[in-house]
Amino acid sequence: MADDLSLTVLASGNVGKLKELQLALSGTGLELHPQSKYRVPEAEEDGLSFVENALKKARNAAAHTGLPALADDSGLVVPALGGAPGIHSARYAEGGDSANNEKLLQAMRHCHGEERRAWFVCVLVLVRAATDPCPLIAEGYWHGRIAETPSGDGGFGYDPLFAIDGTSRTAATLSAAEKQRLSHRGQAVDELRQRLGY
Ligand code: IMP
Repeated sequence: MADDLSLTVLASGNVGKLKELQLALSGTGLELHPQSKYRVPEAEEDGLSFVENALKKARNAAAHTGLPALADDSGLVVPALGGAPGIHSARYAEGGDSANNEKLLQAMRHCHGEERRAWFVCVLVLVRAATDPCPLIAEGYWHGRIAETPSGDGGFGYDPLFAIDGTSRTAATLSAAEKQRLSHRGQAVDELRQRLGY
């Protein structure tokens, strides 16, 4: 099993994610290469949890390349909606970010106060080989509530509706650096860095 992470496949085709993760993991010796470079077919994301789906993606990329692989899975969890949009966050409304946000507002129109609680989750999984029995798993959570109207024009996804706990701001009003410091993804990356000894 490879201990050298200087050639690690990122189990994602998203160029933005590659840049963001590579920057966040700088100094760890881990160098990310997109799975598209190796023509890795998409893994079927049929797990019931973020961690199952991230693990499937990482094992799939490692199996097709023979290299260590890193995968992430993230989304928004709203307890009042039974955990939706959850693992289906990206395709909640099948029509992109603004359709997702509209569907979320509509689904929550009768929710008030504590019922508007929500959190973002990010799970990062690193496998050193396809059959790695000890994957490194790092998680981050970001707590807030769903605002009644969108605000801010930064970020992506549900950011304009995600009002951060302890503030009156949504995630879409943060700079990229502020979001990286506070967010589920930033926290998961910090945990992964620690697990790698940095
Ligand atoms: P994926 O992990 O790239 O598949 O992202 C899953 C989906 O969760 C995204 O398409 C967004 O809808 C949502 N999501 C994940 N992280 C964030 C975030 O930081 N802000 C807003 N939406 C997010």
